[in-house]
Amino acid sequence: MALLEIENLHVSYGSVEVLHGISLHVDEGEIVTLLGANGAGKSTTLLSISRLVNPREGRITFDGKNLLDYESYQVVGLGVAQSPEGRRVFGTMTVQENLMLGAFQVHSETIKQNTLEWIFQLFPRLLERRSQMAGTLSGGEQQMLAMGRALMSNPKLLMLDEPSMGLAPILVEQIFDIIEKLNEAGTTILLVEQNAQAALAIADKAYVLETGKIILSGTGAELARSEQVKKAYLGG
Ligand code: ATP
Repeated sequence: MALLEIENLHVSYGSVEVLHGISLHVDEGEIVTLLGANGAGKSTTLLSISRLVNPREGRITFDGKNLLDYESYQVVGLGVAQSPEGRRVFGTMTVQENLMLGAFQVHSETIKQNTLEWIFQLFPRLLERRSQMAGTLSGGEQQMLAMGRALMSNPKLLMLDEPSMGLAPILVEQIFDIIEKLNEAGTTILLVEQNAQAALAIADKAYVLETGKIILSGTGAELARSEQVKKAYLGG
């Protein structure tokens, strides 16, 4: 059974439909990537799963539950967390305070502390900077913080919206290494990326979204070989 299943999802902003009936599924333990140009609808897909935008039609099932029956804060409790595009860390709060916000659904102090320690192991830089204001972190550090904050809820499914955006190649590599590590430790990943090469290299499965429709899907390796993908997303 798929951990996440999207069927025939239609989403509109006002009177403009931007997702025209997309379907996709993510099995437990997979890394699935969603590729597409600016404006294709990738973020809208993630926001629909997080219940921050309301679909006009279609179904979203997570872990056997109809997500459309839940509010966004409850979706976190079911095991879905999102690291948003542009990081959206709270600049005038410390690193640790930002992380703690991600655990708003976790009631046990012991679990919170253990998760925090695990995140500091994963991102030693965040431990060094735990008392620093998030607004003073570098772009790469803010990305780590946004991922760490999402992980504080101990999600089954972690959704990452363009984690490599604006980062130097060495940092991109680090972020992708961490995504793989997290996946090996058992977290299922739904990854939205413009960096197709890096994303396809780690993905079990990939979907290509173009103006609100899925136009291609396959294994990461299949799509990396596809002429269409090479031409549009891998620079020829
Ligand atoms: P990007 O990489 O640029 O974020 P994307 O693939 O994530 O692109 P979306 O952000 O999902 O694309 O946007 C899909 C379409 O919906 C675009 O045409 C965009 O202009 C439009 N859109 C997104 N958010 C809104 C909004 N709040 N109101 C109106 N239109 C929106």
